[in-house]
Amino acid sequence: MYYKIKTMKLIGVCLIILVVAGTRQLRAQAIVTKTHTASQIIGQMKTHLTCEWSAETVDTFKSGNPDDGITGVAVCMFADMETLQKAVANHCNLIIVHEPTFYNHLDKTDFLADNPVYQKKNEYITKHKLIIFRFHDHWHKTLPDGIYVGMIEKLGWKANQIDSSMLFFKFEEQTVGGFAQKLQEKLKGSQLRIVGDPLMRFTNVALAVGAPGSNTHINLLSGEFTELLVAGEASEWETYEYVLDAATMGMKKAAIFTGHIASEEAGMEYCARWMKTFIQDIPVTYFENGSSFWTVQKPIKQ
Ligand SMILES: [Zn+2]
Repeated sequence: MYYKIKTMKLIGVCLIILVVAGTRQLRAQAIVTKTHTASQIIGQMKTHLTCEWSAETVDTFKSGNPDDGITGVAVCMFADMETLQKAVANHCNLIIVHEPTFYNHLDKTDFLADNPVYQKKNEYITKHKLIIFRFHDHWHKTLPDGIYVGMIEKLGWKANQIDSSMLFFKFEEQTVGGFAQKLQEKLKGSQLRIVGDPLMRFTNVALAVGAPGSNTHINLLSGEFTELLVAGEASEWETYEYVLDAATMGMKKAAIFTGHIASEEAGMEYCARWMKTFIQDIPVTYFENGSSFWTVQKPIKQ
């Protein structure tokens, strides 16, 4: 009898353990399923940033339902049609994008309501239930700036940094023309535009990725340190003219514009690598946009 009771007790304890373990397993499964939603993934990204999430930001959902389950994450500079198609072909329904989807900084669509290009793009996004999230402000705001980290790594300029700002670099003395040749090699798909004297000798470079505006460019160029500015893009009537005037006045100033995508793309490639460090149960794939235009000298995308 004693043994019987003991055995029954033992069976009871085992049953309890099994039930508890089973519940735990179910709970674990529930949590895993939950982390597959878009908002859960964005939540995980937020916890891995060094900065607070701003109330005013362009980093928001641009399409889709944030509570939908995620089958794959695509990371890119621009959610253009070609990239969206590639994302769909690769079963990615969450697209993390650095720049706008609908052709303006705030992704306003009211003025595009009757536009056929907008309508077709939106139809495609809706049909495939694509969730697009812009990741711009906070990828720049986190320390160190994720875009600069990726770009400096790609350019191989880490050893040339003069401080932790990631803006200023010192090189062996050389000509702007020679430097541009080497830069073109590193940014293969880009179409460099060079302003100033190709024979100007320099050692000091300032880097301004993307399109921060002519104020930022001119502030960097007017500093005593900067001889050559390497930038993403600018309006020709702003920074270009400033550099031309400075060069004509005999100042040691020149600029190389790489194009917006070429100046930041490696930063989004790094973003995909960063995401993979904390999102292991869903595939995260980086999609390269490459140059958005071609020239007679560079007729096709590389
Ligand atoms: Zn940027």
